[in-house]
Amino acid sequence: MTKTDKTDAAKAGDRELTFGGVWPYAPSPESTDHVTIAPRHELFLGGQWVKPKTGEYFATIDPATEKPLSEVALAGDKDVDAAVKAAAKAFPAWRKLSGEDRARFLFRIARILLERAREFACLETLDNGKPIKETRDVDIPLAAQHFFYHAGWADKLDLLFPGQRPEPLGVIGQVIPWNFPLLMAAWKIAPALAAGNTVVLKPAETSPLTALRLCEVFQQAGLPPGVVNVITGDGRTGAALVRHPGLAKVAFTGSTEVGKEIQRAVAGRGVELTLELGGKAAHLVFEDAALDQAVEGVVRGIFFNQGHVCCAGSRLLVQESVQELFVDKLRRRMDRIRVGNPMDKNTDMGAIHSQAQLARITEMVGVGVQSGCALYQPRCALPTKGYWFLPTMFTDVTMSHRIAREEIFGPVLSVLTFRTPEEAVEKANNTSYGLSAGIWSDKGARILWLAERMKAGVVWNNTFNRFDAASPFGGFKESGFGREGGRQGLRAYVRLAGGWLPG
Ligand code: NAP
Ligand code: MG
Repeated sequence: MTKTDKTDAAKAGDRELTFGGVWPYAPSPESTDHVTIAPRHELFLGGQWVKPKTGEYFATIDPATEKPLSEVALAGDKDVDAAVKAAAKAFPAWRKLSGEDRARFLFRIARILLERAREFACLETLDNGKPIKETRDVDIPLAAQHFFYHAGWADKLDLLFPGQRPEPLGVIGQVIPWNFPLLMAAWKIAPALAAGNTVVLKPAETSPLTALRLCEVFQQAGLPPGVVNVITGDGRTGAALVRHPGLAKVAFTGSTEVGKEIQRAVAGRGVELTLELGGKAAHLVFEDAALDQAVEGVVRGIFFNQGHVCCAGSRLLVQESVQELFVDKLRRRMDRIRVGNPMDKNTDMGAIHSQAQLARITEMVGVGVQSGCALYQPRCALPTKGYWFLPTMFTDVTMSHRIAREEIFGPVLSVLTFRTPEEAVEKANNTSYGLSAGIWSDKGARILWLAERMKAGVVWNNTFNRFDAASPFGGFKESGFGREGGRQGLRAYVRLAGGWLPG
């Protein structure tokens, strides 16, 4: 680690998050930066690297090149059982530690993460396909921020829940998706540990490398063995974890479909559950908004992370009086999005995360075209290897179109219009999801009026896709229940006095 590395990493936490940049650009010297990746990864159980009892491994690839990066252990039922037992063994000592001591570990983890930020950013970009600009400026600093933030609460839980004697729940089973692999791990692990629980985490099959490298950070920080265990595998591994009788709580982030399965699997077992699921966010633009800023917000809202974002602003609702002007501005802005090598720091949009996700996006764009919506894509050459999709916009869309109702989870924007604020609210809420929404308007009173009526867990005003560890995140309706981040997120990891105290 050089001095420059540290300074860059520290700066990354404060940097304004931007999307897009100067144009034209020259290829960056950083684009050749790489990270060392072991050819094989084992399971992290009881503080040690352990071979899976299944004897099986699977490959994780770089979606920008389709090249295998490493092989990763496939955990079966016996491995899941060993992981839960390791977490259960670690629980009594971890919960007995003072909050101050637990905070020390969390602070240490956060600091090491920032010191190793460059390495984590490169690894995430290679395994996931997202641009290095995003892993460097968003994913890794925010992951560290979650450990810092929750470290701050670890010795103040009594103040957070005054007179209610907060107690940890026990062993938490956590299952996360592939779109923000390290960040989702941090969102889950940091509050669980701060509250005195121990954890078994299952990362997504296609992006396991940063969660595994985080285990190195745990070792480096001296975290007691078994406090966090990471088991890799596919949906079967996740299902085995969720079924395990040793869990006190399941925390899941992923699709609504799997979320419903998990809800059925834990029903009647007295296991706590929080679900962070899909979304189909409305992004409202009023005629009085600062339109050029709104264009940036809408672009960031849908093309950030290739649109693989649960809270992506995938439905643009624009006031009829400015629709033509706004769509024209959007087209011109889309022409300037740089799609390509995710390791180049000037890249705005990287690779689609997997072949399966590319197939889903391609299918849904086909559905949009067949149903008569007008397609716009900038002209831009895409690499021949890897999984790629152009930034895409559909106009002439109505709420009856499938592309306006179903989550596509890719860089595809559907544009609809409205005339009055009442109509905007009605259209925005006309969805089975309820995760996020965005409003662009110059009128404060209008924003407040709308925000109160929006059935969404997060409502951004004159901005979009802003995240902060202190701010609760979560959905309504088919977007799930429970909150992550902020005080509300910690509530889901404690039992308050009067309830059963785990032995
Ligand atoms: P997914 O298919 O539901 O998978 C999520 C995780 O669950 C993965 O680790 C997956 O393993 C595992 N899994 C699959 N089947 C399972 C089962 N039957 N029981 C237990 N675990 C199981 O979702 P995804 O495709 O990875 O992620 C995209 C979805 O996540 C989108 O719908 C998106 O909106 C949602 N998401 C929501 C939030 C939020 O905060 N609300 C944040 C990010 C993403 P495999 O990887 O091996 O399949
Ligand atoms: Mg991968």
